[in-house]
Amino acid sequence: MAQITLGRTGITVNKNGFGALPIQRITREEAAALLRRAFDGGIGFFDTARVYSDSEEKIGYGLSDVRQQLYIATKTPAETAEDFWKDLHTSLTLLKTDYVDLYQFHNPAFCPKPGDGSGLYEAMEEAKRQGKIRFIGITNHRLNVAREAIASGLYDTLQFPFNYLSGPQETELVELCKEKNMGFLSMKALSGGLITNSAAAYAFQARYDTLPIWGVQRPAELEEFLRYVENPPEMTAELEAVIEKDRKELAGSFCRGCGYCMPTCPAHIDIATAARMSLLLRRSPSAGHLSEEGQAIMRKVEDCIHCGQCSAHCPYELDTPRLLEENYRDYKEVLAGKPL
Ligand code: SF4
Ligand code: SF4
Repeated sequence: MAQITLGRTGITVNKNGFGALPIQRITREEAAALLRRAFDGGIGFFDTARVYSDSEEKIGYGLSDVRQQLYIATKTPAETAEDFWKDLHTSLTLLKTDYVDLYQFHNPAFCPKPGDGSGLYEAMEEAKRQGKIRFIGITNHRLNVAREAIASGLYDTLQFPFNYLSGPQETELVELCKEKNMGFLSMKALSGGLITNSAAAYAFQARYDTLPIWGVQRPAELEEFLRYVENPPEMTAELEAVIEKDRKELAGSFCRGCGYCMPTCPAHIDIATAARMSLLLRRSPSAGHLSEEGQAIMRKVEDCIHCGQCSAHCPYELDTPRLLEENYRDYKEVLAGKPL
């Protein structure tokens, strides 16, 4: 069994975290059964967010009787201290608990610090003094904010996209967190669906001091990760070959889904999904992508005003508007029943 300690928090758990974003899409009873199975199977860390609709409520419903035996992380997108407190009280109520183990600023556009005028970091400190949160974390999609958060020494953990398709800049963040004794939670450990070999994804994470947060919705997906609780995959020549093949296949002008460009899009396009849709359709079951929700995401591409903000923020120097157009064209063909 592989354990990971999240830096100075001392939180030590099995190296498989439960990402509770997808449980929004299943019923309360299904979610409760899934969460309980995860807990019984050895998963001890559950990551949710105020903005994941009823995810917190489902965790409260499914796990409140074993609350003391697990760790809960949640997040607030608050931009003011007033909203911070509202969010924290809502989260505590829905989670049916009087404390959150790790409270994270959810992808803020800047790194909150004491004295910056927002009052956000001071609110975190006060919440900690009151015993409502145990540790302070930050999640982000922007390298500059992540680097600033690490350098500040103010945060116990960083949550950032990290998987075997990531670039050297993300690996550097993982190493910097280790140097600073900060915990690192790997978001998008399956690259939002582009990585289909979970054993290879796990074996990659095993090389680093990270806690991968696997987004889980179906019992079969959960069972796959529960197998890794007892028998963590080790890197083998076969898995190395899978990684190499994926890196080659996905090299060059493909969108990594990092989302660095998204906050600046005036059309609010879900670029991290839409610019990868052709790959997602080729590499993962298409039904989910062709749902009403998927179609709504892709239709938004029509709102692109070609302002170029996305390309300007893309660390991979992609021609993002062109990628969006190509992916939308492919998508419409698949919707019309043509093979890709
Ligand atoms: S070019 Fe299009 S997709 Fe890119 S930021 Fe502008 S509106 Fe959004
Ligand atoms: S277009 Fe670039 S910045 Fe935007 S999500 Fe894709 S890889 Fe990331």
